[in-house]
Amino acid sequence: MDNIVHRKIRVGISACAYGAKTRYNRKGWDLVSEFGRDMSNFIWCPVCPEVMSGMGTPRTQIRIQGDSGRDVIEGRAKVITRNGVDVTADILSASNVCMDILKKSEIDAFIYMDGSPTCGVERTSLKNNKVGKPPGVFGAMLLNEDIFLIPALSLASPVRRWDYKRRLYAYVWAKNQEIKTKDELFKFWHNVKFLCQELDEKESRIMGKKIANSEFSPELAQELKIFVTALMKKPSTLEKIKNRLWKHYVYIKRKQGTEIEEIMAPQENRNMHHIAMELEALEKYAFTHDILFGSMPARNK
Ligand code: SF4
Repeated sequence: MDNIVHRKIRVGISACAYGAKTRYNRKGWDLVSEFGRDMSNFIWCPVCPEVMSGMGTPRTQIRIQGDSGRDVIEGRAKVITRNGVDVTADILSASNVCMDILKKSEIDAFIYMDGSPTCGVERTSLKNNKVGKPPGVFGAMLLNEDIFLIPALSLASPVRRWDYKRRLYAYVWAKNQEIKTKDELFKFWHNVKFLCQELDEKESRIMGKKIANSEFSPELAQELKIFVTALMKKPSTLEKIKNRLWKHYVYIKRKQGTEIEEIMAPQENRNMHHIAMELEALEKYAFTHDILFGSMPARNK
């Protein structure tokens, strides 16, 4: 069992976050180029439910009339334009078509544009910091599927981008592992346990004890995979990332007798770009020397 993701990761994305000018006002932003060389490890599947609904761009803004996109799907709310035109059926049908395309593309993850009554998951409005009526219609469909979700706007922060990237690699890696023996179970857990502990210390300790004290069974292997893939969807915090970076660095430094000059102690002040640079430096060092960097347990070839 190696820690490599042996295929390209398939990522769906709101088209306007991929640089397509599909917003109601004919705007769009390229929020993914910052992935840099990691871009080539992904296969991209951009979709825009509002354009697919036939409204085109530019178009009149829409909003949810009712509680949320979930209620739209269940027939208890509507989607209307600013002019009061009911476009519920068109948005529902286009969202279903987009979801079918994404399922056919076998996506692992979806990068959604928050602040939209269609693609939004946590917010359906960006006006005056309003949350709106989340999730949006397509956002509600995304939440119903086992998909690793990434808010597009969080990719602007280099540390949050790194956090999403390393958890996505670990998620796809864990999803693709076949665990058939106790030895494989231990190897699997050993690879991801440090990141699991960072994301949820208490639950990971409980899982660690269960693995140590149980006989191997396919059910236990499945339970562990479900536990790990669910946990990988949970964002970390800056403090945890900085502390773990230092902890892993100190371990690697002692083991290898080497120093990486960019890496600073957790209490030292530096900006997000510097922290991301430190994470990438340790990531690169660990992978080129074939050492486990517990904060980032999986990668592409
Ligand atoms: S948020 Fe979604 S529906 Fe709106 S323009 Fe972007 S891709 Fe299209």
